[in-house]
Amino acid sequence: MGSMRRALVALVLLASCSPSQEDPVAQKDPYKDKLSAEQYRVLREKGTEAPFSGQYNKFFKTGDYRCAACAQVIFSSVTKFDTDCGWPSFSEALPGSTKLASESGGPEVMCAKCGSHLGHLFDDGPTPSRNRY
Ligand SMILES: [Zn+2]
Repeated sequence: MGSMRRALVALVLLASCSPSQEDPVAQKDPYKDKLSAEQYRVLREKGTEAPFSGQYNKFFKTGDYRCAACAQVIFSSVTKFDTDCGWPSFSEALPGSTKLASESGGPEVMCAKCGSHLGHLFDDGPTPSRNRY
């Protein structure tokens, strides 16, 4: 009699456990498998790469800069400028490619398509727009 009762309790616990075990799978970020651990940390968890560490910090070839997660074109090399801040900097993003969210460190710049974190927008740039992405 006593062991039967324990078995029932165990079954009830299992049943109530299963929905919460499925949630992380259902909410898994589809970009998790596509990105490196460092890319994922920056893009999807709003991390910041160490200054002067990025492969494009001192990179000035002509071309487009795309979101590393969804490949949407965000910046053109035409708007990239040299800076000593340690991160790649641009005066303008392509129209409609980004969206902003207010954040204490300055507006956060996100990919308009997939919502990935791209950096912040400052107003101390060298061009007339003063924008520095
Ligand atoms: Zn994107």
